[in-house]
Amino acid sequence: MYFKDIIGQEDVKQKLIESACKGIVPHAQLLCETGGAGAFPLALAYARYLNCTNRGDADACGRCPSCVKYNEYAHPDLHFVYPIVAKKDKKKEVCDDYLAEWRPFLRSRTYFNLDNWLEAIDAGNSQPLIYSKESDEIVRKLSLRIYEAEYRILLIWLPEKLHPTCANKLLKIIEEPPQNTVILMVSEQPDLILGTIQSRSQRITIRPIAQEAIVASMLSQYGISPDDARHVAHLSGGNYLKAVEAISLGEEKEYFLELFKSMMRNSWARNVKGMKATADELASLGRERQKGFLSYCQHLIRENFVYRFQAPELNYMNAPEAGFSVKFSPFVNERNVFDLMDELAKAELHITQNVNAKMVFFDLSLQLTVLIKK
Ligand SMILES: [Zn+2]
Repeated sequence: MYFKDIIGQEDVKQKLIESACKGIVPHAQLLCETGGAGAFPLALAYARYLNCTNRGDADACGRCPSCVKYNEYAHPDLHFVYPIVAKKDKKKEVCDDYLAEWRPFLRSRTYFNLDNWLEAIDAGNSQPLIYSKESDEIVRKLSLRIYEAEYRILLIWLPEKLHPTCANKLLKIIEEPPQNTVILMVSEQPDLILGTIQSRSQRITIRPIAQEAIVASMLSQYGISPDDARHVAHLSGGNYLKAVEAISLGEEKEYFLELFKSMMRNSWARNVKGMKATADELASLGRERQKGFLSYCQHLIRENFVYRFQAPELNYMNAPEAGFSVKFSPFVNERNVFDLMDELAKAELHITQNVNAKMVFFDLSLQLTVLIKK
């Protein structure tokens, strides 16, 4: 990870570069963001820059022995702490047990969130944590002599997931830091971190990525049109992960959009056979997906109602959805929008209450035949 890999955030990069060049490096720093803004890659690029023996004005050299080890995230003085799911049978209880997954994960992407990581390690439904056992590991690592680096780095991703025992050990370390050790913490929910850790760390706020920076990155990386790039940047709210998500509908949403279209078309045409077929298909999905579909329908109804006002800053649809809205939006108006939302919410409630799904979706289609013509 280099500074050049991070989209926007020029002011923060400059601050970190200055800190390294002047040798004024606080031993505990807390980078806070709301997600997808680049706090983790910034911390990693900063760590690399701090230890590069041939620093340029704007970035690390990429060739010195330190940089080469950073390329593999395998520098002996670079330690990672991150949430994991303990699997006792597989002897996975501390972060280092997951290094074989963690390093390729980092190499494969610049931006990620906790869900991406949990998916990469097949976490299932278990709650990710930084377990109390990790505190012994941290103490052990920091009590070793520094091998070769100018700064030993302890990079803690999501300290809000620290087990209290671990947080208290960390606090002691922050109070009496070992020499030349820099603790970089990257948090998305800093309010959940032990107050005493917060107050003893230098806080760096990473704001959402500037719209222009996202537009530029979408143009160069995805080759979409300037209009689409601006639209995507608006949808993202400065979160790079959301921008990427907005470019392509997820497969699930694409499927839901098709189901929504056929449900609406059948109801408009009073095609009972079609209504029944769509209801059967929806009934074959699991309950969670049925609920997901119904809440997606409510989102589309809202967006199609707003679409009529031709105020793009109020609209949150991606390209395939907006394409459908050109023809569909005239059917959603002030005479039926509340009833449409009510019917969809009612169907969602019935699904939650385990009412027969075929009946719920067929009944919904019948209601729609009336409402859609209002
Ligand atoms: Zn270097």
